[in-house]
Amino acid sequence: MDLSKLNPPQREAVITTEGPLLVLAGAGSGKTRVITHRIVHILNERPGGALARNILAVTFTNKAATEMKERLVKMAGPRAQGVLVCTFHAFGAEMLREDIHRLGWPRKFAIADMGDQLALIRRAMRDHKVDDRAFDARKVLTLISKAKNSGHEPTPKPEGMGDDYDLITHLVYPNYQLALKAQGSVDFDDLLLLPARLLREHEDLSTKYTRRFRYLLVDEFQDTNLAQMNLLRLLAGKVRNVCAVGDDDQAIYSWRGAEVRNILQFDSHFPGSREVRLEQNYRSMQVVLDAANAVIAKNPERKAKRMWTDRLGGERVKVVTCPNEEEEARFVAHEIQKQMALGVAADDIAVLYRTNGQSRPVEEMLREKGIGYEVVGGSEFFDRREVKDVIAYFKVIANPRDEVSLLRIVNVPARGIGDVTMERLHAHARADGISLWAAMGRSQGYEDLPAGAAEKVGEFLQLIERYRGLFEEGRLAQVTRQLLEEIGFREATRALAPSISSADKKLKSVDHVLNSLESFEKREGPKASLLTYLNRLSLDTRQEEEEVPGGHRRVTLMTVHASKGLEYRLVFFIGMEEDLMPHKGMQGEPQNLEEERRLCYVGITRAKELLYLTRAAIRVKRGKEVPCTPSRFLEDLPPEVVEKVDLAAPRTGAPTEQERNFFANLKDRFKPKGAGGGAGPTPGDRKV
Ligand code: ATP
Ligand code: MG
Repeated sequence: MDLSKLNPPQREAVITTEGPLLVLAGAGSGKTRVITHRIVHILNERPGGALARNILAVTFTNKAATEMKERLVKMAGPRAQGVLVCTFHAFGAEMLREDIHRLGWPRKFAIADMGDQLALIRRAMRDHKVDDRAFDARKVLTLISKAKNSGHEPTPKPEGMGDDYDLITHLVYPNYQLALKAQGSVDFDDLLLLPARLLREHEDLSTKYTRRFRYLLVDEFQDTNLAQMNLLRLLAGKVRNVCAVGDDDQAIYSWRGAEVRNILQFDSHFPGSREVRLEQNYRSMQVVLDAANAVIAKNPERKAKRMWTDRLGGERVKVVTCPNEEEEARFVAHEIQKQMALGVAADDIAVLYRTNGQSRPVEEMLREKGIGYEVVGGSEFFDRREVKDVIAYFKVIANPRDEVSLLRIVNVPARGIGDVTMERLHAHARADGISLWAAMGRSQGYEDLPAGAAEKVGEFLQLIERYRGLFEEGRLAQVTRQLLEEIGFREATRALAPSISSADKKLKSVDHVLNSLESFEKREGPKASLLTYLNRLSLDTRQEEEEVPGGHRRVTLMTVHASKGLEYRLVFFIGMEEDLMPHKGMQGEPQNLEEERRLCYVGITRAKELLYLTRAAIRVKRGKEVPCTPSRFLEDLPPEVVEKVDLAAPRTGAPTEQERNFFANLKDRFKPKGAGGGAGPTPGDRKV
């Protein structure tokens, strides 16, 4: 490999392959590049030749893992296929697939999704006579998840018993964990905890895994949590070939339990570690870097970093005030159209926002212009009812002990198995100490069940068993089609939909599941099974994309959180207002505000060449027009790197020279307003 494509500190980080090493450096300084080059270097240069399968590289998202793997194969050829590149959670799932039976779970475990988790928590609450309407199960789930992510095993004894929720969590946690295990499931957090337990409690496994993974590399280390740190330490064993790279200024997941001290106190976890600093930024033009540095400089507690670039100058950062949300979206879409006409590829452009809800107006405007886009994450596809129903069938077929899914579909479409029947069966299951599924199998023998009901239950059981057999033979999509046909799923969906167009939409979602199954089968080949598909779904934070117009190359829409590690020639960071960026509710506590500032820094540093920071002067909130204050972060930008444009100001007379240049192509704006108009402060004045 050509080490001359690295600067001296990068080179040092690449060739120091033995012992713990931390690369702490700002955005765009080549940290991720160090990881890929280091892997190639290990493959090429290790005496005796390390094998690809001895290397584990951990990324923050599945998308980043896929991209890194592709890069590696490009750089080192097919042998890089053997390198394991994945997220901590996917790695944990992989380990559990091999060895979870050592902890008493079935090998074919399922990963519970949020809906499953909430149902189990509600039930555990009811078992403790806690009213699940008075107390929010989601809050309890959050607390359980927090406990797990800070590495606590399921015996939490909350210190302050004052808070009701602490007490409820304390009561509910053990039941929840037992219920999960009883149905052969683990939750997302268990994917970190259980592997750590395997390594701690089973010496042979510890030997097996530490021997196999001799080189560990972790990207985005600032956003690891304690459970991940524990797992990493156990995997590192005595050899401790750990290379962690990250940037404390980009720590943006503390709300999800990430622990920035993992990076700041790396040496206390791995004593004697080396530290490398990178100072040259290769990503952004000077103006963008100046803007980013000015924003982050205001955070009091940070490891000061010097960052410089030789990409001097650049077009100034556009700070654009729009009359309202729609006009903001229109401006963004129009600029994108203009830039694409100038030769910028759609996949070189990103629109970033603080909250998922902000994507909708932009999506509409892009669609109107026929510009292809993709929304990363955030799609509520798998929350749609009919999609959930189909997935619940899969879950029951893969694992009949999954009670939550079983209850969901036992009478969908309606087949005469009513709530009363299920309640009685549930009581029997409890009394006999068996699963609900097993109780259903005995329904002929229960006297309180009418013969007709027992017969219906029997038919349902047979249906599920028959399809389990069919699915085991493969052809997932085809068998699913057959199943939906047999149970009359489409007709039932159509009949229940409030309108024809809503029915079409629902059926389209069902088709989408079938498509996603088909592409999964293509990808996985003979390895594809219902269970691996389900596990894939729960691991894929990226989720499914909506069908959108346009070709292969698309504009990317995503939250700032989802954008970390990525880069684009053009970035639109929208909604730069108080209450959005920084987010409402994050402005009181200093730590929260600091995290919002880091988030702003992450967003800005995604831009290579041109950055737009846009805001709306007025937003409609709960049906009312509310004026919005510009984000405090805008005030931190050095005036000399900014070009301000105000599309919202009441105006008279002809546009200024600057406006004329800026809007040379922005003809839409000067058209009379279409639907949804009237939201601007002085619409009449704005016509030129
Ligand atoms: P982030 O903190 O945002 O994750 P990073 O530190 O991981 O950023 P990279 O994504 O690795 O930075 O690199 C940023 C850009 O700079 C990439 O396009 C990369 O190819 C380029 N780059 C990094 N190092 C060099 C170098 N020595 N020579 C040329 N280009 C480089
Ligand atoms: Mg990176």
